[in-house]
Amino acid sequence: MLNFPIHSPVEELTLPLFREKAVRVFIKRDDMIHPFISGNKWRKLKYHLQTALQQKKHHLVTFGGVWSNHLVATACTAAKFGLTSTAFIRGEELQTDALFFCKLFGMNLIFTDRESYRDKKKLFANEFENDNSAYFIDEGGAGIEALLGCAELASELTETYDHIFCAAGTGATAAGLIKGVSEKYPESRVSIVPVLKGADFVRREIASQITFETDFDFYPDYHFGGYAKSSPQLLQFIKEFSAQTGILLDPVYTGKMMFALFDLVKKDQFPSKSTLLAIHTGGLTGLLGFKDKFSNL
Ligand SMILES: *Cc1c(COP(=O)(O)O)cnc(C)c1O
Repeated sequence: MLNFPIHSPVEELTLPLFREKAVRVFIKRDDMIHPFISGNKWRKLKYHLQTALQQKKHHLVTFGGVWSNHLVATACTAAKFGLTSTAFIRGEELQTDALFFCKLFGMNLIFTDRESYRDKKKLFANEFENDNSAYFIDEGGAGIEALLGCAELASELTETYDHIFCAAGTGATAAGLIKGVSEKYPESRVSIVPVLKGADFVRREIASQITFETDFDFYPDYHFGGYAKSSPQLLQFIKEFSAQTGILLDPVYTGKMMFALFDLVKKDQFPSKSTLLAIHTGGLTGLLGFKDKFSNL
């Protein structure tokens, strides 16, 4: 087993809005799992790492964009567990804070044009045909490993919550969470907030990964224009939330999820005495991509 104990406490958010509406809101601090192997990215990587170690493959190879939290997490994981790492990066060469961290953690970066990036198996096969220490991890860590890792979150809970909120990009984390929660806390409802526009395929993707009959709530209207798009209203919300709680949110994922939760509470979506749990999926290096936008507020 991996020597990496999970530290992700549940804290209550005591804010005037929640008192006024008589709901209790908690946050599960997956952002505290690790500063760089953060949130859902550790949960998605854990079983990949275990398999790689079992197969004596000491070179993690994966894929992502220039702001990918998954790349930062993979780079840091490799460094921490004595492995090496390579990433195929989508698009032309660009320096970002996320890639800066990847490089510090020793990751080898290969910038790849968007056309060839589509065929990840082929990229991997071409580059590493003579390297049988290389272990393939799909973009974002997707796969059955991610589903199992994310489902484990539910077994760390010690209370029942009426609603459990989580942001979705690809929906892999959401699918795992729904699986775990439906097994351990069948009375709880999971509420998914997709962060991209036209997220119907995300809903289908989630539904396709949970092989049993489970219902979940889906709130597709909090994308703020699309993936990694934001608005002054969203950034203002994040600023106020951070100042009131000491907890940071990023505009790409957790900011949108938390904005949705606040908005639904404001609109009396939940009866008084409801208990809500928000999953902080981490990924705070993403905030650094928005420094300029925040400075205009
Ligand atoms: C990657 C990421 C997500 C989305 O995870 P999916 O499994 O792709 O849905 C959510 N929150 C944060 C902070 C992330 O970095």
